[in-house]
Amino acid sequence: MSLFEVTERARQYQTQLLDFMDSQVYPAESVYDEQMQAAGDPHFHPPVLEELKAEARRRGLWNLFHPHPEWGPGLTNLEYAPLAEIMGRSHLASEACNCSAPDTGNMEVLTLFGTDEHKERYLKPLLDGTIRSAFAMTEPQVASSDATNVEMSMVRDGDHYVLNGRKWFASNGMHRNCKVLIVMGKTDPSAPVHRQQSMMVVPIDAPGVTVIRNLPVFGYQDREGHAEIVFNDVRVPVSDVLKGEGEGFAISQARLGPGRIHHCMRSIGMAERALELMCRRAQSRVTFGKPLSENANIQDWIAEARIDIEMIRLLTLKAAYLMDTVGNKEARTEIAAIKVAAPNIALKIIDRAIQVHGGGGVTDDFPLAMAWAHLRTLRLADGPDEVHKRAIAKQELRKYRNEVSA
Ligand SMILES: Cc1cc2nc3c(=O)[nH]c(=O)nc-3n(C[C@H](O)[C@H](O)[C@H](O)COP(=O)(O)OP(=O)(O)OC[C@H]3O[C@@H](n4cnc5c(N)ncnc54)[C@H](O)[C@@H]3O)c2cc1C
Repeated sequence: MSLFEVTERARQYQTQLLDFMDSQVYPAESVYDEQMQAAGDPHFHPPVLEELKAEARRRGLWNLFHPHPEWGPGLTNLEYAPLAEIMGRSHLASEACNCSAPDTGNMEVLTLFGTDEHKERYLKPLLDGTIRSAFAMTEPQVASSDATNVEMSMVRDGDHYVLNGRKWFASNGMHRNCKVLIVMGKTDPSAPVHRQQSMMVVPIDAPGVTVIRNLPVFGYQDREGHAEIVFNDVRVPVSDVLKGEGEGFAISQARLGPGRIHHCMRSIGMAERALELMCRRAQSRVTFGKPLSENANIQDWIAEARIDIEMIRLLTLKAAYLMDTVGNKEARTEIAAIKVAAPNIALKIIDRAIQVHGGGGVTDDFPLAMAWAHLRTLRLADGPDEVHKRAIAKQELRKYRNEVSA
């Protein structure tokens, strides 16, 4: 029996998802590469992805992330964790199953705080996978790992707010189907520090919104893109403020909890795939008269990878279990811990798998180089390592606060 019991429905989803990966997703990877290359446009939306989406939907592997039964299967975090891990093994799977960031977080925000109109206009098509969305909080001019620094001005003018400012790294902003942004800015700079911010729903084609450019990641032009966007006198109706003025910071905290752990689950999937590739390659390549796998250092890397993966998986499951049982707020230390541990450990494993692959490891002939580039960004996106460590250290130090004052 597993430490965290797996429910029957979770087990069924795992079996179905593994079959979907083997029969559809992995074979689609090379088709995807061909279609992208033929298009010659990094933000092209390849037909193979729509085929995968249709197949995932047909198999009931759709919106697996959504915790509300009205909109998805209503799985707990603990049930979803192994599924996100499986999807993390291929860069195509999350979008194929309509479970990719930042749409998942945005869908949850719209479910919790959106008006009926938001649900009709944006949430339903997002859940249907016909449109995509982006989340625009980070700004080039200010250190945005402290979200209270965000400066975009949102000034009330009658029954509208007028938005001015510049955002960058809005992931999905270059996606061909991206139709809507959730934007965080400042409505009241004189309010208490965590009440100054608001979040608004803004169509990407609203007058005054200009997507300036895509930001490459280690030279990769990600298909969904990370957009730099200028807002120039963008008028947003008051009804498009989520939850109410001054609630932006609170929503961003609620939004990032599940999103962070989803990233960790997918990181574990990437680490598993890297370990698998490392073992296969180490056994098939021979130097100095013996397979690479017979060298002690390579065995050490393989063993360490297995140990590390088991550790981060257990910590992720613990965080998921706590989110389900005591809530995201109470689970924040574990969420922060795994947000640091999972990408760092997965990066180490991928780096060693690259080494075992020799020169081929840094090319696009294997999925390792791209996986490394993607994972490296996770040490920044959704909060840099240092910010999560700061939160953990604060919790830890709190235990001894009375000793100092005594
Ligand atoms: C690929 C990618 C996708 C992203 N997607 C999105 C998105 O969809 N939407 C969005 O709004 N943002 C997104 N981001 C932005 C990301 O969330 C920010 O880059 C991150 O929060 C850090 O903010 P910053 O870049 O302004 O760095 P800064 O705030 O300038 O911080 C710089 C560095 O300072 C260090 N640091 C910060 N605080 C401390 C501290 N207390 N102690 C020690 N060191 C510290 C950290 O190492 C940090 O990396 C994305 C980023 C990347 C790379």
